[in-house]
Amino acid sequence: MAMRVPLVAGNWKLNKTATEAYKLVADLMPGLRNIQGVEKLLCPPFTALMAVSRLIKDTDIRLGAQNMYWEEKGAYTGEISPSMLAEFCQYIILGHSERRAYFGETNEQVNRKVRAALAHHLTPVICVGETLEENEAGRAAGVVSRQVREALLGADLLAGSDPVVIAYEPVWAIGTGRAATADGVNTLIRNVIRPTIAGMFGDDLAQRVRVLYGGSVNSGNAKEFFAQPEIDGALVGGASLDARTFIGICEAAQG
Ligand code: PEP
Repeated sequence: MAMRVPLVAGNWKLNKTATEAYKLVADLMPGLRNIQGVEKLLCPPFTALMAVSRLIKDTDIRLGAQNMYWEEKGAYTGEISPSMLAEFCQYIILGHSERRAYFGETNEQVNRKVRAALAHHLTPVICVGETLEENEAGRAAGVVSRQVREALLGADLLAGSDPVVIAYEPVWAIGTGRAATADGVNTLIRNVIRPTIAGMFGDDLAQRVRVLYGGSVNSGNAKEFFAQPEIDGALVGGASLDARTFIGICEAAQG
């Protein structure tokens, strides 16, 4: 049985100036410092990455960005490249449902970003999840399996020890206060996400990939998710903006 270290990631989305980020990280550090056996990951906006990276330099807190472009350099005004991020970050969130819904990101674009991130030793946190309509039509498994498969096509995963993280985030659970059931998430990971990865890269890798749950996780419901054998942590949006709450979620992942 693969040993997977729990990962709790805070997706700050479009929140926090560099000054505000400084204050949030200062509030987070004392609590996060005492938490062992859990990987803690902060994903601020681009403009706060440098400030946060300086603050967490001598800690075990990891840093990630929320998006990037796949090209390395050139005439792509407004974009950020993998190597620009690799100076600060270990992780990169890719294919978040807000990027898919508001910025038209496709599975093919997510795949290009995944392959570019891996080439620069950034670990992608690949977000997948069905909409409410797809869920109600009984299409969750098909949609999620396709998102995972198309994100990972041609990816060089076998080389890295921790090549990718998948975040299962049903769209209807994000920011709504209506979390999925822990048991339902566990079943979907076991029956859909891991078998999809196993079909492409083998069972050993499928058992090593960490799969997170995301969607209205808070310090009250986190434990229930982390008690499930297939759920290896959480991608936390709104609740990651409050230091006490985020620390509470990380504590819940300690087991
Ligand atoms: C997210 O943004 O990835 C997320 C899960 O948001 P929230 O926790 O606010 O539902």
